[in-house]
Amino acid sequence: MTYLTPNGPEEQAIFDDIAARRIAILEAMAGASNNNAGRHDVAQLIAVSKVQPDIRIKAMLAAGHRVFGENRVQEAQRHWADSFAQLRTELTLHLIGPLQTNKAQEACALFDSIHTLDRLKLARSLARAAQKIGRAPALFIQVNTGCEPQKSGLLPQELDGFVKELRAHYDLPLAGLMCLPPVNEAPSPHFILLRKLAERNGLSELSMGMSADFETAIRLGASHIRVGSALFGLRQAAE
Ligand SMILES: *Cc1c(COP(=O)(O)O)cnc(C)c1O
Repeated sequence: MTYLTPNGPEEQAIFDDIAARRIAILEAMAGASNNNAGRHDVAQLIAVSKVQPDIRIKAMLAAGHRVFGENRVQEAQRHWADSFAQLRTELTLHLIGPLQTNKAQEACALFDSIHTLDRLKLARSLARAAQKIGRAPALFIQVNTGCEPQKSGLLPQELDGFVKELRAHYDLPLAGLMCLPPVNEAPSPHFILLRKLAERNGLSELSMGMSADFETAIRLGASHIRVGSALFGLRQAAE
């Protein structure tokens, strides 16, 4: 596909760098999944393309990658409904950042999965939007496993009641749970807690693990890992 070929040696160098990073991550994932908490499948690698320049995203597409994650609805629309819109039907898109209720319909229209369901008000907006446009993304509930006051997500002790309420009153496809462990703690206890909460609630999917800890997450049963900087290089702009 000429559309995804590099223009000149500078772009070729970026394409080579991205392709090599992707292979290295896939190999590390395969190594970690030899002992992955009883799962038979290898985790899905979500390439987190937030704040990346189009050339790096183009290189990732040229390397064959088709699963991407974004933090913001507007930036995601720019990337995937604009710059690379002709590939949309081949792609799987995940929203991994916080979602405001007034963006629920746009998010439902663009994303295949939303990882950050954290309140009933948002569930209500998503259910209404899904009904209106006839398309519902798979939902992950975000759990604040470290009980950090500044972080979104349900507290672990709130989860069971929330799931029960969702199942009773909201017509939404629930896939699993997501967490973002505190930055200066070992991630393993958080991943183990997330898995326990998912099992207790009959949920199979676990969105956990980023650039620094995806191998640990896979060993502890992650179904989806969200990797940005290790795949694309460091993000350039402030977030
Ligand atoms: C940015 C982001 C990631 C990716 O982080 P890296 O450390 O660059 O891999 C994963 N998950 C969430 C929720 C993020 O916001």
